[in-house]
Amino acid sequence: MSRRLDVVSGTSPSGPRDASPPSLDDKPREECGVMAVSGIEGAAELAFLGLYALQHRGQEAAGMVAFDDEANARVHKGLGLVADVFDSEALSRLTGSTALGHVRYSTAGGGGARNAQPIVVRYAEGELAVAHNGNLTNAHDLRTWLVKEGAIFQGTNDSEVVVHLVARSRHESVDLQIDDALTHLEGAFSMVLAVGETLYAVRDRRGFRPLVLGRKDKGYVVASETCALDILGAEYVRDIEPGEVLKIRGSRMRRLRPLPPAEKHSPCIFELVYFARPDSRLWGVSVDRARRAFGRRLAEEHPVPADCVIAVPDSANSAALGYAEASGIPYELGLLRNHYIGRTFIKPSQADRDFGARIKYNPVREVLDGKRVVVVDDSLVRGTTSRSLVKFMKEAGAAEVHLRIASPPVKSPCFYGIDMPSREELIGSSLSVDEIAAELGVDSLGYLSLEGMETAVEEAGPFCNACFSGEYPAPLVDVEKGFVPGNVGAHC
Ligand code: AMP
Repeated sequence: MSRRLDVVSGTSPSGPRDASPPSLDDKPREECGVMAVSGIEGAAELAFLGLYALQHRGQEAAGMVAFDDEANARVHKGLGLVADVFDSEALSRLTGSTALGHVRYSTAGGGGARNAQPIVVRYAEGELAVAHNGNLTNAHDLRTWLVKEGAIFQGTNDSEVVVHLVARSRHESVDLQIDDALTHLEGAFSMVLAVGETLYAVRDRRGFRPLVLGRKDKGYVVASETCALDILGAEYVRDIEPGEVLKIRGSRMRRLRPLPPAEKHSPCIFELVYFARPDSRLWGVSVDRARRAFGRRLAEEHPVPADCVIAVPDSANSAALGYAEASGIPYELGLLRNHYIGRTFIKPSQADRDFGARIKYNPVREVLDGKRVVVVDDSLVRGTTSRSLVKFMKEAGAAEVHLRIASPPVKSPCFYGIDMPSREELIGSSLSVDEIAAELGVDSLGYLSLEGMETAVEEAGPFCNACFSGEYPAPLVDVEKGFVPGNVGAHC
């Protein structure tokens, strides 16, 4: 059951107000999907479908705002899955030809209804809405400054600074106010904003998170991934470029002044490894093809004699197919996943995660019994899932279990919008490959090398690979100013 936040007609939402400075424990980490539709009557219904396709990007909260031709904003947000948050009654209230939506996941401290997006406020120029995917690395810094200046925040969400920056800009036109606000932001943001029926779509200058542009009928669609365009029957036009600021009103679109160029672009390679849907295209490559290429490369780097290759479903299916193809070992369905419980990792507490790993997968005894099994997973984070799976597979009769990971060891937390635990909790940060193998109880363990992974998709690079390499392309302003307790990543 979802909990509803509020339904507000013709005005912005009012919620519990909090003027206190940011709490260090409150910093939310974002994993999100965004969606916007312009110039198409019934925009909210289309945005709803798009959000439905983006559900994998965030399962804790969903929200939408629609603007009618008098620029009235109608908002509906709630905790839960898209299909639970929006029923036909809620959708029927979201009238107009402009809509903007969001799905969100956040960790314990940052969860809750008051952080659900889009954020909608009324300011001097009318109703302003923002939906953001990514993590600002200077949100605490900006927020502290804004609070000192008298700004009042409703949530602990890093995206809320954006509406304050727009509202406080001294520029006369909305275009310049938005330009002004964007120049203050550091880190990762793929963002859609709306002021009345005018939409703005923006990607930070390094392009960490995806954002694509599509056309449907006479209007435009903007979404985190192409799978959201497919569900609408919208035509993919192109990726929104790093640093690009698009202004869309109805069927008209133009580019505004771009953000200052970055030395190099750094789209997140973990989107290709795990986060995006395999039927999406990201940065010019098919996610499915990228994962298959990772799997093929993994088979070349870490061959092993075995009777079958199985995937940890569903995120490793494509990589396991690639491994099977390159090794010539038959692909089997040896693990079944219960589809009705959501992603285990994407539950806010550690207790949930441990429990989730146990209830999520079931081994197929007939496939595994007496067999030497290569099991492919897309990534190892804490090792919780694999530890349980190896146990289940051995109990189901597997003679040998060879774990192959279609990415390098995750060693460092992400500050740009992928939820990762602290460095201490990352199994790859402190243990060697042999120690991890012993810890998980596998007969052998092989990770894809960083070089192998990047070479497999070099046409889409260079990438941000900070979670694997510890090299962070955008300054970690808040961390450097001591806003985040402990060492780097202790809380982010
Ligand atoms: P763990 O059990 O902590 O090692 O998590 C590894 C599993 O979680 C892998 O099977 C991945 O498919 C999945 N995973 C990796 N990164 C994430 C993430 N940021 N959010 C949710 N799931 C993830």
